[in-house]
Amino acid sequence: MIDQTFGKTALSPKNLIKAIKTVPTPFYLYDEAFIRSRCREFFAMPQAYGLFPRFAMKANSSRALLQIIQSEGFGIDASSLNEARRAIQAGFSPEKILLTTQEIPNAENRLILEDLMRKGLKYNACSLTQLKLIAPFAQKHALSIGFRIHPGTGSGESVTRNTGDKYSSFGIHLENLDEALSLAKQNNIMINLVHVHIGSGGDPEAWRANIDTEISIIERFFPDVTTVNFGGGFCVARMNDETSANLNDLGLSAQKALFSFYERTGRKLIAEVEPGTYLLANAGYLVNTVMDVKTTGKDGFTFALVDGAMEVLTRPLLYGSRHPITVLSPEGIIKSDELSGFSSLPKEQIVVVGRCCESGDALTLDTEHHINPRAIARPETGDFLVSGGAGAYASSMSPFNYNSHQQAAEILIRESGELKIIRSRQSFEQISQNEMGL
Ligand SMILES: *Cc1c(COP(=O)(O)O)cnc(C)c1O
Repeated sequence: MIDQTFGKTALSPKNLIKAIKTVPTPFYLYDEAFIRSRCREFFAMPQAYGLFPRFAMKANSSRALLQIIQSEGFGIDASSLNEARRAIQAGFSPEKILLTTQEIPNAENRLILEDLMRKGLKYNACSLTQLKLIAPFAQKHALSIGFRIHPGTGSGESVTRNTGDKYSSFGIHLENLDEALSLAKQNNIMINLVHVHIGSGGDPEAWRANIDTEISIIERFFPDVTTVNFGGGFCVARMNDETSANLNDLGLSAQKALFSFYERTGRKLIAEVEPGTYLLANAGYLVNTVMDVKTTGKDGFTFALVDGAMEVLTRPLLYGSRHPITVLSPEGIIKSDELSGFSSLPKEQIVVVGRCCESGDALTLDTEHHINPRAIARPETGDFLVSGGAGAYASSMSPFNYNSHQQAAEILIRESGELKIIRSRQSFEQISQNEMGL
């Protein structure tokens, strides 16, 4: 049983207990070998005239993970200027960074942006305002930029993650394209990249459909474009009843469309993709200690209280996302493991909740925010609960100081099996270090 593997990676209970003895729970645990193999899947994707993958670093911006992904040859999709700066701290050169952001850097940040653009960072204009503000600078330094287009349709795992339909504000809408193009022309700005990101975790068919949409936009409006960026959004199965995107199929569709674009126009477009979830979701785990077990009467529920839920893994509360649960004894014996279906005890309906003062502070919720019990072994106080699928949008997205809890530590299992702390737990003093009092 000690050698039983967790889900799809070789994370062993022995390593887990070792990690638990190294840092206090809750903490995140990442698997380097898994990240590297995911990176390599993108270089093996079918392609036409070059495919450049960028890591959407908002999924997880931890420096060690960025370093791993950088060493695999990826570029960066940065969603903010600070993300770009953190990518540079991790060793990415500015030329490897595409900045696609809703924010409009001004004052000191504007100077930082201009400095990075002169060093090669590519700016992706996401609105007419952004275009107007960047145009004089881009013209002065003869810098080409990209256009993020709002295609009018999108797809996401939930409405909050659809970034392509009329309910989302991302990109320059097709109806504003004429105005944007004439603005670029007036300022002598070359647009050589077109970008669309339709959403996260959506239907692969919508992703496939966007290939044609985007290429036809390029054909119609962008004679100088050399690069087509298809965005991210490759969905990942965290649970057994979910399905992951098939990179090979999507790559073949893109390849076919790019070959046919070449036949029609004589133009060979370089393709880019921007995975976040796909690289990291199943490379990470959240490790918790069970602090208490209680029930709410005959018609109620059995609750396992863990030492960190919404403030370390917000996705269940935000989206109703499910993360596979493993229950482990302090001796490292697996009591139950959702992905393999293994259970050494009868499974019971258990609700997993956290320590914040919110009834929505739970790891087992449905999309309507109702508690949603799961069939797992009944944990005891002192057991450990491991949630899988927690490598993307977990650590980076967490409202960690809520209820004055400390930001959790991060540990990496190196390819060698060595455990390395890549971020220590925030200290108690750091929570309030910027406060002045009266
Ligand atoms: C979030 C985001 C991505 C990554 O999405 P995933 O679903 O994590 O793959 C890619 N590109 C842009 C512009 C994004 O905002």
